[in-house]
Amino acid sequence: MDVSVGQRQLQEFSLASVSELASSASTSASTASLPAIAHFFADCGCGSSQLRLQRENESSYFASLHLATSHLFKLGPVQSVCVDECSNACNEKSYSRAFTLLFNKEKDSRDFHYSFEQWKKDVNQGSNLPDRIIPSSKSKFDEKIESSSAKMYFHYYGQLLHQQNMLQDYVRTGTYYAAVMENRDDFSGRVVVDVGAGSGILSLFAAQAGAKHVYAVEASEMAEYARKLIAGNPHLGDRITVVKGKVEEIELPEKADILISEPMGTLLVNERMLESYVIARDRFLAPEGKMFPAAGRIHMAPFSDEYLFVEIANKALFWQQASYYGVNLTPLHESAFQGNYSQPVVDAFDPRLLVASPVFHVIDFTKVKEEDLYEIDIPLKFIAAVGTRVHGLACWFDVLFNGSTVQRWLTTAPGAPTTHWYQLRCVLSQPLYVMAGQEITGRLHMIAHNAQSYTIHLTLSTKMWGPGAEQGGILQTSSGKLDLKEPYYRMSQSQAYTVPQDQHQSLQPQDVNIPIHDTEESEPLEQLPQNSGSHFS
Ligand code: SAH
Repeated sequence: MDVSVGQRQLQEFSLASVSELASSASTSASTASLPAIAHFFADCGCGSSQLRLQRENESSYFASLHLATSHLFKLGPVQSVCVDECSNACNEKSYSRAFTLLFNKEKDSRDFHYSFEQWKKDVNQGSNLPDRIIPSSKSKFDEKIESSSAKMYFHYYGQLLHQQNMLQDYVRTGTYYAAVMENRDDFSGRVVVDVGAGSGILSLFAAQAGAKHVYAVEASEMAEYARKLIAGNPHLGDRITVVKGKVEEIELPEKADILISEPMGTLLVNERMLESYVIARDRFLAPEGKMFPAAGRIHMAPFSDEYLFVEIANKALFWQQASYYGVNLTPLHESAFQGNYSQPVVDAFDPRLLVASPVFHVIDFTKVKEEDLYEIDIPLKFIAAVGTRVHGLACWFDVLFNGSTVQRWLTTAPGAPTTHWYQLRCVLSQPLYVMAGQEITGRLHMIAHNAQSYTIHLTLSTKMWGPGAEQGGILQTSSGKLDLKEPYYRMSQSQAYTVPQDQHQSLQPQDVNIPIHDTEESEPLEQLPQNSGSHFS
């Protein structure tokens, strides 16, 4: 079935039979039931799209129903009733007609219901709306996202190259596969919606786990490739319908028992796709339905990395030239220097760079309101495990597949097997000096913007330590403003760091534990490298 929204002029469906239900005044129960074809037609000339019914081998239609006044009800897997409250609207006569539609297969029934909703939606958004409906041309997505950003975003995901990159992240894809297969009971015989299906891989996993039907919703051109991939796996594809469009805008013929999605960006929230996942939950998930994944956590800890700090500071050295082809570049040095620190650094780092035990912030996908994701404010409090210079905040995330049989975490923690998300570090232009046992406080304040990302405001402060601590007070504060949309991908150095496989398995997914020592500072210093960054060399 081709359901590309906005491009439809005409669409046909074969029906095993159609029979008209008699009106209450009539004595006969129904008309003869015969094989038929149902056509959806754009504007019939009187301003409304129609559903026209035609007997097989007959050239004319025996019924035309106006979508604006029609309703479709599912009676069974292959049986539905379509009622037109005003089937002769063009002639200004008003009476109801109803037809029983029998489909050849369950899939035909689903596809027909889906198309019916789409055509009806187009009618409602069209010009001939009932007076009380205020036309809204903008969806929730369009209202908050700049169209140029959305265009680039979906162009990116429309390319197989980028889908391949995600598919080849075996930690990611393998964890999804394991989580689905271990929890077959959550999928078997269920209706599934794959939110942002991409290549359709998660829909195919859900079908492998015995899903009754999967709606694979994908907004980018990748939907066409997903159709191809799914058609090439017919034993599974029979139970998958690709729906091309944004989850904020499409309609589905039934509620889902479970949503599956991979909406995580850098630092969990980049790309603002979690909001689409939550909107899909509110629009399509049945009460008590499940979400795969069900929750995510952002983990944070201060880090010390002299090597990285110097590297970023040095990037601006170029602008210190007083005579670049006879031009003094120094007026722009300060701006370039600050600009470099506004880029969060994405790479895989050694967890030994962490200065304190991490803290985490939970986002419960099953409960969070979409608007709660517009602004995320996390208070920070750590105890330094060592005396060192703190260069900023290191962040990573994990998500939970809260299966009925097995609970599984997908983690992007430093020291765990590396994923295509790596980790993220917000580097401060002014480092902080800490002593072992000293408290570090602060705030990570993230504000969503209309380019599908966040502005990050980070503040870290050191508290008074030692004999004067009771008086409290902040010793030193450092702040930075960063744009999550513009990360600095620092992979060449990071790839040098690998953790032996046996070490991966012993790691807890949620945290990398850094022992906290509040005794002498000399002892914990032995546990951290001398902040030279030498392990990246
Ligand atoms: N599920 C696939 C792809 C994940 S990438 C996999 O796990 O491999 C996220 C996908 O969601 C992209 O293909 C992107 O185009 C799609 N997407 C993002 N926002 C969307 C929205 N609001 N509606 C529909 N699809 C969306």
